[in-house]
Amino acid sequence: MSIQIPRGTQDILPGQVEKWQLIEKKARELCEKYQYHEIRTPIFEHTELFQRSVGDTTDIVQKEMYTFTDRGDRSITLRPEGTASTVRAYVEKKMFGNATQPVKLYYMGPMFRYERPQAGRFRQFVQFGVEALGSSDPAIDAEVISLAMSLYQELGLKKLKLVINSLGDKESRNAHREALIGHFQPRIGEFCSDCQSRLEKNPMRILDCKQDRNHELMQSAPSIIDYLNDESRSYFEKVQKYLTALDVEFEIDPNLVRGLDYYNHTAFEIMSNAEGFGAITTLCGGGRYNGLVEELGGPETPGIGFAMSIERCLAALEAEKVELPLSESIDCYLVSLGEEAKDYTVTLLHQLRKAGFSSERDYLDRKIKTQFKAADRHQAKFVAVLGDDELKANKINLKNMATGEQTEVDLPSFIETLSGFCK
Ligand code: ATP
Ligand code: MG
Repeated sequence: MSIQIPRGTQDILPGQVEKWQLIEKKARELCEKYQYHEIRTPIFEHTELFQRSVGDTTDIVQKEMYTFTDRGDRSITLRPEGTASTVRAYVEKKMFGNATQPVKLYYMGPMFRYERPQAGRFRQFVQFGVEALGSSDPAIDAEVISLAMSLYQELGLKKLKLVINSLGDKESRNAHREALIGHFQPRIGEFCSDCQSRLEKNPMRILDCKQDRNHELMQSAPSIIDYLNDESRSYFEKVQKYLTALDVEFEIDPNLVRGLDYYNHTAFEIMSNAEGFGAITTLCGGGRYNGLVEELGGPETPGIGFAMSIERCLAALEAEKVELPLSESIDCYLVSLGEEAKDYTVTLLHQLRKAGFSSERDYLDRKIKTQFKAADRHQAKFVAVLGDDELKANKINLKNMATGEQTEVDLPSFIETLSGFCK
């Protein structure tokens, strides 16, 4: 039997890959405008990094990591997300000492999670994410959210919903935590075993449980919003004010939570409410994590970021039937007739490419008619026809495929003429 692709992974072939390239290009261009700079970290890290930063109690660490022991007996994990590595590098490379602050980074690359594959959920997927480290100005929260929204909007998505929440600071979260324990404790027996163990460790994560989401105690659970102290409330209000200034529409969802202690203040998700998008509607998740840098051995440093996958972005584009502006056409196809002319196209093609034209010729000894068909398939804007006779006369025939217009051009000025036509 032939070997097949592993479950939950994909081959992205020409014809599809152009969409990926376009999204990636847009993301990079936006980062340039917003002044986020790329960081590339290893695809594997010491397992402990994720245990500490993503957190021992999360699904990612408990159930989804690709962990193995390497030949040196170290526990290694294929990265399941990008924040951990980014913050590790930030601490290790002492970026807190950089002259330019805050440090604004972005990453793009494959992540690995052992999940049950389904639409929009893969075992290898590509995440694009940003992190802004070193500022606790609510304006940067709004900036980060606006960057994510802008990417989707520039790609042509319309059916987007941004939900935000505040998890407050330590004091607010502790007060909320006590209230949650008081709320769930009397009837915790009715909840799943995960929730039972979350009650003391991390009661906020009960609100995030997919199994018990319809339990009546969920709806009536104490909302973090009611436990925000003055400082946290004012921070949250500023984030909202700045979002409005950036023309970003949002809804507040007090049930949007993140379990880990180092998450605080802003949490957000961008969802697609396009019809037919299916069960998975979250495109992007992010939030503030003012305790993470310290958790990984660095100085106390505020941070905020988001992560989104290209796979879900593509699924949303498909659900909204957005046609991406992909250009598949080439500038020039060289058709040749006769041996000498064919040989000469080797040189000519090289000159075309040096001059910046995407160009192609035949490599299968095809008849002239078939070469023209190939030119069509490449959607060539120009077809240049060179026969042995033309070559002798130092001429070449140039056809503009859009207008049908044909011009006989002196061979030495061919590139120049084509450049003129292309302007
Ligand atoms: P979900 O609730 O869908 O499992 P998550 O909370 O695990 O999402 P995050 O860890 O916040 O997701 O990752 C951020 C983003 O990465 C998600 O919003 C989604 O776009 C994408 N993502 C996460 N897991 C996958 C996956 N297995 N396949 C494709 N994209 C994914
Ligand atoms: Mg998940």
